[in-house]
Amino acid sequence: MYFVEVILPLSLDKTFTYSVSEAEFHYIKKGMRVAVPFGKSKIYTALVIEIHQNKPALYEAKEIHQILDERPIVTEIQIRHWQWIASYYMCAIGDVYRGAMPSALLLESETLISQKTDSFIDTSLLSDDEFLVYEALQQQSSLKVQDIIAILNKKNIFPVIQKLVDKNILVLQEEIQESYKPKLVRYLRLHPKYESNQGLGELLETLKNANKQKEIVMRYFQLCATEKTQGAAKPITVKKLIEEANSSAAIVKALIEKEIFEDYFLQEDRVNFNGKINEGELQLSLDQQTAFEEIKQSFTQKEVCLLHGVTSSGKTEIYIKLIEEYLATGKQILYLLPEIALTTQLVGRLRAYFGNKVAVFHSKYNNNERIEVWNQVLQKSEKAQVVIGARSALFLPFHDLGFIIIDEEHEQTFKQVDPAPRYHARDAAIVLAHSHKAKVLLGSATPSIETYFNAKSDKFGLVEITKRFGNVMMPNIELVDLKDKYFRKKMTGHFSDVLIEEISNALSLGEQVILFQNRRGYSPVVECITCGHVPQCQQCDVSLTYHKHKNQLRCHYCGYTMAKPTHCHACSSIDLTTKGFGTEQIEQELISIFPNSKIGRMDQDTTRGKFGFEKIIDSFKNREMDILVGTQMLAKGLDFDNVSLVGIMNADNMLYHPDFRAFERSFQMMTQVAGRAGRSEKQGKVIIQTYNPNHNTIQQVTNNDYLGMYNEQLYDRQIYKYPPYFRIIKLTLKQRDFDKLKEGSMWLYQVMSQNLNMPVLGPEEPAISRIRNEYIRTIIIKIPQNVSIGNTKKTIQKMLNSFEAVAQYRAIKVISNVDFY
Ligand code: ADP
Ligand code: ZN
Ligand code: ZN
Repeated sequence: MYFVEVILPLSLDKTFTYSVSEAEFHYIKKGMRVAVPFGKSKIYTALVIEIHQNKPALYEAKEIHQILDERPIVTEIQIRHWQWIASYYMCAIGDVYRGAMPSALLLESETLISQKTDSFIDTSLLSDDEFLVYEALQQQSSLKVQDIIAILNKKNIFPVIQKLVDKNILVLQEEIQESYKPKLVRYLRLHPKYESNQGLGELLETLKNANKQKEIVMRYFQLCATEKTQGAAKPITVKKLIEEANSSAAIVKALIEKEIFEDYFLQEDRVNFNGKINEGELQLSLDQQTAFEEIKQSFTQKEVCLLHGVTSSGKTEIYIKLIEEYLATGKQILYLLPEIALTTQLVGRLRAYFGNKVAVFHSKYNNNERIEVWNQVLQKSEKAQVVIGARSALFLPFHDLGFIIIDEEHEQTFKQVDPAPRYHARDAAIVLAHSHKAKVLLGSATPSIETYFNAKSDKFGLVEITKRFGNVMMPNIELVDLKDKYFRKKMTGHFSDVLIEEISNALSLGEQVILFQNRRGYSPVVECITCGHVPQCQQCDVSLTYHKHKNQLRCHYCGYTMAKPTHCHACSSIDLTTKGFGTEQIEQELISIFPNSKIGRMDQDTTRGKFGFEKIIDSFKNREMDILVGTQMLAKGLDFDNVSLVGIMNADNMLYHPDFRAFERSFQMMTQVAGRAGRSEKQGKVIIQTYNPNHNTIQQVTNNDYLGMYNEQLYDRQIYKYPPYFRIIKLTLKQRDFDKLKEGSMWLYQVMSQNLNMPVLGPEEPAISRIRNEYIRTIIIKIPQNVSIGNTKKTIQKMLNSFEAVAQYRAIKVISNVDFY
């Protein structure tokens, strides 16, 4: 009797046993995929994690359909890591498997298979089976696995499909069709037949009667000559030539048709790296060099090091130096970013150093591209020795990881919200690094409280840079008191006179301006116009959210509610207002105040399209806009060299977001946005408009006082029982039946609060208490530091199991979110 233990790509917390022949038993290795039947008629791609001879006790093991791989495509370290993720984040191993693999590697019976529309197919290169599938797809637009089994009259059809996918002929249903294309730039060169001197004479002869064409050709020669005198002869773009020759695209076109010019395309990020560094040696400044040495020193003793360097201190260059060292050891390197949209900038910078050793793993890539990177990493190919990606790059089949960088480690996008696994990429990366004996560098100008706490308590190394690169000064931050400005009628819409004046100044000097309005402003709070007071929860240290239809104020953490007050509890004024205004309104106001300026907006609405984000960043960088209004996307490590002024429209709606991380996040966001100002020689300026100029967090931003923020928050976290002192597990319960849900969540809450010897809060009705017709309740469990989180989770899981066993609650879905962000 021979068996394999497999993971199925389903939300099932078990592994399953299938039987195999003796020959298969000796062939199969852990980490190979097998196609298996499951349920009545389904087929899935399962992953082998064990080969054994133990007959399952509870069911008759079915036979596998076939083996899909010749060698493992998942490593043992990966499997162990996935098991850790499943157990730590309380989800099914099948969820991790499904989330980790590119979907083309997870073919299943329900997958719709169709022909790729834009591919040219040479049918003579297809095998008989492949041709039959191809032919069938000329008759109908899509096929399921079962159809193909019928067409080929055999069970083992996955390899045929896989081959056709590899050959770029088929696409699978879930595939995201949008493929990431680095920007292409169009260049011109002389047709090869004119390259010799003799050819030149001929050329001038041809153009004798075409003055305009001759002009542009002459200009082309001039440009080439200038380039040569400056050293490296850079290729000449069509755009530049037309500009310089004061000519037109039509004339260029005519010259191409005459075969005098040839045009060609290059990826912008490969050739046109315009950074200040260029091909030469990268010279670290003294501060950078010291930090670099300290990080290496710290790695001799610790696995993780935090690089806390102010905005524009040149952290990226330190990463580059470290990557260089790890590359020399032949190990693999993973560079995690919080936001895919930032890769374009970074890939360019890294490729300038490491050329084609840099690969990008991108959720926007199509299946083939993702599988390509997967295989390169699996085979330890040089082409993917450095992998850049967002959080999912963590799941690639690394063999010999030496170094992981987590840039902007404080960003909450590192935590996956939906679907499971709801993992935090930073924390999961640290665990992964441990199995590879690799080192982890966390980088941020505004580290998360948790990370800084770990650094301060000696768990992580800590290296700090307090000065910007090149002696650039930190921006000068000025506060504008909105209460005073409204009182003295110095406001135009949401703009204070000070902000308007500073914008005018910057614009008149040809400098650019960034205005920041947090998207989170949508969640309304009640605010006193006279004193700016916003009602707070007595138990949670967060502000209360205004619920209009119930006319209530509500705490989103403990469920505390109160009727909407009729007067301010701080100053008794009856002038209360509800707040929340967005970027669009700011943009409208700007247009009327600065009618002659070009204004752009960057938020979820304007960046929705393909690479919308990149387009806006590019055009702002190219100075096609004077003012950019945006949300938190602006806070994410962008490097603009002509921005001298940053305005924060309203600091208060960030501060009063109902969240125990609100002050930490406000500090991070304001500091990061402020950091976009004055990255070149001139000192930048930041204007923060607020009702609370004396608020501690705002003072801390103004004084660049990270430590002050950290100490204050840490104190609050301890008092109010939050991380790093307590670990938070959030349970979300969902059901269509309101009363059943209410009853069920109360049942679960009571069981938990009676049996867990720790704070349990809830069951709370969240602000958005119904989504897609499902009602929602949440329960929060706070696990103290000195209690075993593993055992607690086991206890919680047991309670969840008994909850599931109660017949009338069976329809309630429960989602666990560990280390809820
Ligand atoms: P951070 O990531 O810390 O905000 P960056 O790495 O983006 O800072 O560096 C800020 C600016 O300074 C960038 O434009 C970068 O090119 C430049 N810079 C940093 N270090 C160096 C260096 N050693 N040599 C040349 N330019 C540098
Ligand atoms: Zn509360
Ligand atoms: Zn008041």
